[in-house]
Amino acid sequence: MSRARLVLATGNQGKLREYRELLEPAGFEIVPFANEVAETGSTYAENATLKALAALEATGLPSLGDDSGIEVDALGGFPGLHSARQGPTQVERTAAVVGRLEGLPRPWTARFTCTIALAKPGEPVRTVDGERRGEVVPDWRGEAGFGYDPVFLVPELGLTFGEMDRATKHLWSHRGAAIRALVESGWLS
Ligand code: IMP
Repeated sequence: MSRARLVLATGNQGKLREYRELLEPAGFEIVPFANEVAETGSTYAENATLKALAALEATGLPSLGDDSGIEVDALGGFPGLHSARQGPTQVERTAAVVGRLEGLPRPWTARFTCTIALAKPGEPVRTVDGERRGEVVPDWRGEAGFGYDPVFLVPELGLTFGEMDRATKHLWSHRGAAIRALVESGWLS
């Protein structure tokens, strides 16, 4: 049986892997569309929509855009929409956030958020959201995942995303929640 093709507008290998792990068992083939799309929106939903529409326009296939970020309460939600722009490497990005928190009382509460836009030919764009609350920790813990995973602790488990196996991160992550909401919406069929 051939699987339904879904384009994912991302050049982020960490995101691509998560979508494949979560959506391929549900019967979808994830086709990456890695063209850079300028994130000119002022919300996650706007940016996710820009990405999904660019992929739909280029491929003609149902397309997903993902915009996500980490928001630290003590920093007024920083880096938020700008999470990917805190330096060229994962080490520099985590250091940019942790460096601003040094000296502030812990816990450094934060949330990860993920918005997915689905663009299908001839249909309005639809969006779903997922969130995970937790805290930023000062030192890297674990090497799994990508981005800010090693410094984001899920207090209920006592583990950072960087210390979780893949299945556990999917169960607890903002992106896992958003993808489950998308599957349950019925919009993919
Ligand atoms: P964008 O969605 O392409 O704007 O990038 C979001 C950025 O937020 C990523 O490059 C990561 O730095 C960070 N981010 C989003 N989701 C995650 C995650 O699940 N783990 C770690 N970092 C993430």
